[in-house]
Amino acid sequence: MHYDVILIGGGHNGLVCAAYLARAGRKVLVLERRHVLGGAAVTEEIYPGFKYSVCSYVVSLLRPEIIRELELPKHGLEILPLDGTFTPMPNGDFLWRVNDHARTRREIARHSRLDAEAYEEYGKAMVDMGRFVKPILTMTPPDPTSLDPRGLASLLSMAQRFRALSAADKYNQIQLMTMSAIDFLDQWFETDVLKATMAASGIIGTFLGVRSPGTAYVLLHHYMGEIDGAFRSWGLSRGGTGAISLAIAAAAREAGVEIRTEAAVSRILVTSGTAAGVVLDNGDEIRGRIVVSSVDPNLTFLRMIGADQLPEEFVEDVRRYKFRGSSGKVNLALDALPDFTSLPGAGPHLRGAISISPAVDYMERAYDDAKYGRYSQQPYIDIVIPSLTDPSVAPPGKHVMSCFVQYAPYHLKDGSWDDHREAFGDTVINTIAGYAPNMKNIVLHRQVLTPLDLEREFGLTEGNIFQGELTLEQLFFLRPAPGWAQYRTPIRNLYMCGAATHPGGGIMGAPGRNAARCILSRG
Ligand SMILES: Cc1cc2nc3c(=O)[nH]c(=O)nc-3n(C[C@H](O)[C@H](O)[C@H](O)COP(=O)(O)OP(=O)(O)OC[C@H]3O[C@@H](n4cnc5c(N)ncnc54)[C@H](O)[C@@H]3O)c2cc1C
Repeated sequence: MHYDVILIGGGHNGLVCAAYLARAGRKVLVLERRHVLGGAAVTEEIYPGFKYSVCSYVVSLLRPEIIRELELPKHGLEILPLDGTFTPMPNGDFLWRVNDHARTRREIARHSRLDAEAYEEYGKAMVDMGRFVKPILTMTPPDPTSLDPRGLASLLSMAQRFRALSAADKYNQIQLMTMSAIDFLDQWFETDVLKATMAASGIIGTFLGVRSPGTAYVLLHHYMGEIDGAFRSWGLSRGGTGAISLAIAAAAREAGVEIRTEAAVSRILVTSGTAAGVVLDNGDEIRGRIVVSSVDPNLTFLRMIGADQLPEEFVEDVRRYKFRGSSGKVNLALDALPDFTSLPGAGPHLRGAISISPAVDYMERAYDDAKYGRYSQQPYIDIVIPSLTDPSVAPPGKHVMSCFVQYAPYHLKDGSWDDHREAFGDTVINTIAGYAPNMKNIVLHRQVLTPLDLEREFGLTEGNIFQGELTLEQLFFLRPAPGWAQYRTPIRNLYMCGAATHPGGGIMGAPGRNAARCILSRG
């Protein structure tokens, strides 16, 4: 069998790319290494009756045009709203921001009247920033060193849109690109717990602290979804994040895509500088006119092709590309709900995100541990309990709790993650128990994922959750390498379409859709 396109990896971006290519008439084969589709957007029943969103757990960035064009609701996609963020504090107080604007204002005013005023202005400014950045998500990044007229035209249009911003928005935009999350937030707010919790989205997936320059941009990256549909936009997918991937897979199959699981690619066949197909782990050879990789540049170029077949300068850039995984995940099956000392009972505060981010110094100290090769002794934890919103993921009366944890550096100073996995899990549960003392008695089962597990199980090099850090030097026309941000590669007929390409990680689908457009434009 000869395919027009062989797509490596059945994560959500690979599936999006495949669906668009098949809808344009291409004969497409998707090859996924694992037994289940979805990559980092996957649901698995690790413990009977409890369905974990094993890696990614909330959705907001998924491009609306993909939902519409691939008719994902028809294929089973349903996004349920996630209401608010609750931050318990060690002094027995809390901060609880909800989707009801007036209530959030009152709650912030309880901590600071000035901040309640500023919160509104901040929200408006971020909407403006988001409006400026959003069209960039669906662009093929131009190469500023090339005289290609299409690239020059899109650079010009960006410059024109920047000129049209108000003076305040221009300054904000530049500050967002250069400052730390805390320095940026310091300009707006005085309440420590508010700044700590808001800054958290600036460090997710990076090996940076809330005071490190560059984190303000990541804050915007995560804010983008909130801007889209105002408050409903951070949500849970019914059935877990794997249900998103399965809906995309159903749309892809409907368009004629063939999908094989337990089909790991070991090598990309290259003949005279042109991709010609792939070789699977079991030795099977499959030929195709075009090969598209949705796995990261380390796996694609250094493992599946080999440095000797690539330009030296490009290989250097791939080796320089930073992964530096910094996150872990602890998934829990619970017998009952956690009871927080600062706001007891099974109230609506448990239905949104629960953020263990009580102070700016707490967040920075968590990073200090990681800088010197230890996992945080008191980590930042982003918790959701999806079973409260979507009862289909746990047996009646029981719950699933997802804990995203930073920092868990891939490189430990002492020993290996295989030695530290359980102690890391204990640290996470003990930290939560500091705020909800019943925690230790309600855990029926726990799954602890270290960065090493993310690498081994999901093919994420060094366990980076975004297939490479979302830092400014690795974004837009620099992702994954200078000169190669247009989904092309130095190998003819080999393209990339995963989170390691523009606009980066998150359940967004934009890299997959953008890549399909580029491939189709080349015939
Ligand atoms: C712990 C964690 C938490 C996260 N939380 C969130 C969140 O809450 N919200 C959010 O929006 N984003 C989150 N993310 C990020 C988001 O999930 C990813 O950026 C996104 O899913 C990447 O999709 P992708 O299709 O580009 O790549 P991947 O999901 O990495 O897919 C690549 C696929 O390729 C397969 N593969 C690897 N090697 C081979 C091979 N040799 N042959 C064939 N197939 C292969 C893999 O098994 C995988 O299925 C999180 C990620 C992690 C890891």
